[in-house]
Parts: sequence; structure tokens; C-alpha cells
Amino acid sequence: QAKLAGRNRFCFFTSRMNEEAEARLRMEGELRRAVGTDQFHLVYQPLVAVATGRAVGVEALLRWSNPELGNVPPDRFIPQAETCGVIVAIGRMVLETACRDARRWVEDGHADLRLCINVSPRQFQDAGFLGDVRAALAGSGLSPANLELEITEGLLLTERGDVDTLLRTLTDMGVKLSIDDFGTGYSSLSYLERFPFDTLKIDRSFMIGMLERQERKVLVETIVAMASGLGLEVIAEGVETAEQMAHLAAINCDIAQGYLFSRPVPAGDISPLLDRVFR
Ligand code: C2E
Ligand code: MG
Ligand code: MG
Ligand code: MG
Repeated sequence: QAKLAGRNRFCFFTSRMNEEAEARLRMEGELRRAVGTDQFHLVYQPLVAVATGRAVGVEALLRWSNPELGNVPPDRFIPQAETCGVIVAIGRMVLETACRDARRWVEDGHADLRLCINVSPRQFQDAGFLGDVRAALAGSGLSPANLELEITEGLLLTERGDVDTLLRTLTDMGVKLSIDDFGTGYSSLSYLERFPFDTLKIDRSFMIGMLERQERKVLVETIVAMASGLGLEVIAEGVETAEQMAHLAAINCDIAQGYLFSRPVPAGDISPLLDRVFR
């Protein structure tokens, strides 16, 4: 009896695992086929200077709408695209499209606009990455000074000398670097000293309950003070309430991003947000 139950459980398990593997394979296939089609598009979310309420830039965020799978959130398809390597082709398209969009906004009078683009570790490690960045800048005419690449600690964990070299090359070109999702994962404070970051983005999980939980409040305040002391600009992600914003102003956080100001919007809807003063 027990043996039978055990065997059933085993069968149940394998079929579950097969289902998951199948779903993964299916998504992988759809991702490969989607490259070069109009299934991907970018949305943009404003970054707001805390002191003035003005938008200083935008973060480009990728969306995927697939006829079979529907709208798949980036947290689900990006890891998958990384594992199978299609992120390199997708990321190239993101760079090209976002630089072209941003160039228009710069020409429309937002000369100092910062365009923030997420780059996954897998993309960074691709031999063609630097070439892709250069091509996107040259193709769009966007100045490197307008571009900021967001990377996560995953990249820095690789401990490879060429990562240092690549980051230096980018900063020498005038491209800015920011560390995304700071405070999650395996943050090591030594990264902040070792790599040439311009900006630190506090992960949005820190905003949740920040005003109610004293420990969290202290953490955020300390991260802001530390980053400022190191000469980094600080962006708080996931700002949803006016109370959070007031607190960020009180602790001298530089920039805020979140639903309080705007959800990510299509390229065509960004201009009015760049002209607004968020108060
Ligand atoms: P991220 O880079 O940390 O981006 C911020 C995420 O927080 C976005 O989720 C954004 O929509 C969301 N967000 C912004 N404000 C708020 C808020 O007030 N409340 C809440 N609850 N969420 C807020 P999204 O667009 O789903 O992207 C998720 C992640 O997917 C990104 O996290 C980034 O790691 C990755 N991703 C998105 N686009 C790209 C891309 O083009 N390339 C790569 N490599 N990764 C990307
Ligand atoms: Mg980001
Ligand atoms: Mg982030
Ligand atoms: Mg995040």
C-alpha cells in the first residue's frame, strides 16, 4: 500500500516536473520566434527629482505580448530569456529602440534627460555588448551622457577582470552606471567602492512599510546617507504614497520613481510627464 502511494507520488512529481519543463520549453520557443517581431515594446516610467518635483529621466521597461501566452511579465520571461541566451538579441533591440525614443525627447527640449536601461548579466558578458551600445548611440545620435545602464549585483558576483574593464570603458565613454535593486540578493558594500557606479537604486521592497517599521526606516536612511557620502546619486524605487515622498525628501534622497508619479507608459505618452512638476 505504502509502496503504491509512494509510486503514485513519484508519478505525480515527474508529471509536474515535465509540465514545468514543457512550459519552459514552450516559452523559450516563443521567445526565440518573437525576436524581430512586434511582440515586444517598451514602456517608460519617469524618474522624479525629490527636491524639485521635476522628471529628470525615464527608465525603459520591456513588455512582451505573445499570441499564445498573452502578456508575460518581465519577471517571468527575462530570467528565461537569460538562460537560453535570447536576451542578447532582445537587449540589443531594447538599446536601439530606447536610444531612438530618448533622442527625440532630447531634441524636444529635454537636453539633460537620463535614459535608464536595464542590462542583464548575460548581456553584459556577451562579447558584442560594447559594440551594441556603441551602435545604439551612433544609430540614434543620442549622447552617451544621456545614457545610464542599470545592472544588478548578479553581474558583479562573477568576479571577472573583464567586467571591471568593460565598466571602465563604458564610464570613459561617458555612459553612467547604476546598481539596481540595491539591498536585495548578495549586496556587498565593497562593490560600491570597487566599481565605478554613479547611481544606487534602493530596491522597492524597502518602500513597503518603510514608515511603519522603524528598522526599515533606519535602513533606508542609512543607505541614502552612505550612498551620498560615496558620491552616488540615490533613487528610491516603488514610491507609492505622498508620505513616503515626504520622508524621502526629509532624508535627502535625490530621486524617486513609482506609481505615485506614474506607472510605466508607452513612448507616445511620456512627453507631458516630462513637462510636469510633481508636487
Ligand atoms: P526593475 O529594473 O527593478 O524595474 C522596476 C520595476 O518596478 C518595474 O517592474 C516597474 O514597473 C515596477 N514599479 C515601478 N514603480 C512601482 C511602484 O510604485 N509599485 C510597484 N509595485 N512596482 C513599481 P517591471 O516593469 O515589471 O519589470 C520588472 C523587472 O524586469 C525590472 O525590475 C527589471 O529587472 C526587468 N526588466 C524590465 N525591462 C527589462 C529590460 O529591458 N531588460 C532587462 N534585462 N531586464 C528588464
Ligand atoms: Mg531597473
Ligand atoms: Mg530595480
Ligand atoms: Mg526591482
